[in-house]
Amino acid sequence: MTLKEMVEKSERIVFFGGAGVSTESGIPDFRSEDGLYRQKYDVPPETILSSEYFYSHTEEFYRFYRDKMLPLSAEPNAAHRKLAEWEREGKLLAVVTQNIDGLHQKAGSKRVYELHGSVHRNTCLRCGKKYSAEEIAAGVGVPRCSCGGLIKPDVVLYGEMLDEGTIRGAIRAISQADMLLVAGTSLTVYPAAGFVNYFKGNYLALINRDPTPLDGNCDLVLHEKVGEALGKL
Ligand code: NAD
Repeated sequence: MTLKEMVEKSERIVFFGGAGVSTESGIPDFRSEDGLYRQKYDVPPETILSSEYFYSHTEEFYRFYRDKMLPLSAEPNAAHRKLAEWEREGKLLAVVTQNIDGLHQKAGSKRVYELHGSVHRNTCLRCGKKYSAEEIAAGVGVPRCSCGGLIKPDVVLYGEMLDEGTIRGAIRAISQADMLLVAGTSLTVYPAAGFVNYFKGNYLALINRDPTPLDGNCDLVLHEKVGEALGKL
């Protein structure tokens, strides 16, 4: 069965995606050829994006974060737009994403479970005041609240726990889906990657440029670009 036929036969699609969904919007992923992990830094990105590094090297964290993690001019691509369209048509239950860039919402998706948080929410650790990504991008050095507290992006750093409500919502959606479409993820970041195991519906489809550990379990695997594949449906 083709992807188009699976989508046509399904009424409760859930999309599970990762950084590869946004590469066609110009945001590099982590593990591809041109991903952030292949670029040379004095300190590896996994270390910089850890909770421990955030608190011990806050200035260096923000230098990297502003440079690499705040692509505020990026626009949704055909994949983001198609998913928002399916939600409007009542075919798609939810998007579950490991991305932190907010592009699904920018494309119009409403029910989005952001497993790793979002660069668009930033909170003062002392008083709880909220700041936008634009405010963080516009500043220099370590962002401080008007109360003097340190501002932290609501992004799940390595070593931090995922938000419980988000986990519950994502798992509920995946277990209610009749089709799970997995795309643009190496499925190597846990616990997020394990959530696909809650799927018990009819069609498990995967679109990813490179092979993943899930390929052997899928009803359909396309080693293609996700924006191109969804754009032509
Ligand atoms: P990853 O970098 O580990 O893997 C990305 C996968 O996407 C690769 O297997 C690659 O082959 C595939 N891919 C790249 N471009 C594609 C395209 N156009 N079409 C289809 N497949 C494509 O990403 P991951 O599995 O999401 O895990 C990395 C972590 O990095 C996540 O936790 C995420 O939070 C974070 N991250 C997020 C962003 C973002 O918000 N845009 C960007 C980089 C990293």
